[in-house]
Amino acid sequence: MKACIFCSLPKSDVLVENEIAVAFFDKFPVNEGHVLLVPKRHVSSLFDLTEEEVMGVWNLVQEVKEMLDRRFQPVAYNIGANVGAAAGQTVFHAHVHVIPRYQGDVPDPRGGVRNVKKSMVPSPGEGEK
Ligand code: AMP
Ligand code: ZN
Repeated sequence: MKACIFCSLPKSDVLVENEIAVAFFDKFPVNEGHVLLVPKRHVSSLFDLTEEEVMGVWNLVQEVKEMLDRRFQPVAYNIGANVGAAAGQTVFHAHVHVIPRYQGDVPDPRGGVRNVKKSMVPSPGEGEK
């Protein structure tokens, strides 16, 4: 089996951690301060986390948010996870993306994480521009 890059992450890459999870900067950030959080236990899917791990990961998301607020002063966040190859997952150690957002960083931010795929039906306000 190929070694898991998130299981062999250098200690020096770790930004914050708790008993359950660690957080580090994404190596190919979509925005300044893009962070990934992973459970310390290797599981490929976020749906395989125990309740304790869900809490541990979410608590760390909160900590990461406070750290990013101080360090980069974003005005908003996208938080998301790709679960499964068809949803875009490329590293099969479960992880959560925390993506700070800045005023005007895209021309029209409406929809946010909805924009991973074109809508099946127009959403309210779509096509009004
Ligand atoms: P996903 O496409 O949801 O599986 O996300 C995998 C993420 O891991 C991508 O955003 C990559 O940019 C990021 N990535 C890949 N290799 C590394 C690495 N060695 N260190 C940190 N982030 C990485
Ligand atoms: Zn792993």
